[in-house]
Amino acid sequence: MRIHSSEAIILRSLDYGEADRIVSFLTPDHGRLKGFARAARKSRKRFGPALEPFAQVCLYWSPPRSGEMVSLKEADLLDLRTGLRRDLTAIALAGYGCELVEELLGELPGQPQVFEVLRAYLDHLATQGTMQEARMLLELRLLALAGYDPHLLHCSACGGGFSGDRAVFAVERGGSLCLDCAGAGEGLSVSVLTLGTMARCLRSPATLFAGFRFGEQTLHEGGALLSQALGPHLGRPLKSLQFLKEILSG
Ligand SMILES: [Zn+2]
Repeated sequence: MRIHSSEAIILRSLDYGEADRIVSFLTPDHGRLKGFARAARKSRKRFGPALEPFAQVCLYWSPPRSGEMVSLKEADLLDLRTGLRRDLTAIALAGYGCELVEELLGELPGQPQVFEVLRAYLDHLATQGTMQEARMLLELRLLALAGYDPHLLHCSACGGGFSGDRAVFAVERGGSLCLDCAGAGEGLSVSVLTLGTMARCLRSPATLFAGFRFGEQTLHEGGALLSQALGPHLGRPLKSLQFLKEILSG
């Protein structure tokens, strides 16, 4: 039987039965796959700690005989990212990032860019600590990679630039709107500066997470804008987002 191998990021891991484990993992060229690891919790030799969520690994598997689940044979651990496991906020942000990738892009075939963006995001959480900026950068970049990036710098109705310092963001109309085109009470009121910051983030290298610092207003408005932009593309509420909100609210 042919054995496939690939570098992978473990997205989720679920204990099954006495000693087995089911994992969901992302690869650069095969996209998201689900795998069954027989006796994974007994066989330290074949899997060790490599099937923990957020781990960077090299996986070996055989294709499914039926259904969609591949059969995992072995795993080599490349990086467990222990740095992010010491901090509950980092764990919550990592879990959110993995679930967002799965929900937004999981059905698509291989996407090396998505893999690199998630790798860089998790590395950032493991080495630089936790930041809301990293979450916003990830959301923006995943929206763009999925082809859902909203209009930011121009009015999506009339195409004009913004003259004042406020604009409106309404995802159902394609993104930002000038005050003339926005209906009364429509969408989110946002600062033009926030829209500019979001647009600049999208022009930065997709794997760069270090060195971004946003002010309170940008964090607040940008976070609300991104949650509006993501909403229509998520088939269900993300469990990890609820957990993240609970952690952040203390
Ligand atoms: Zn307009």
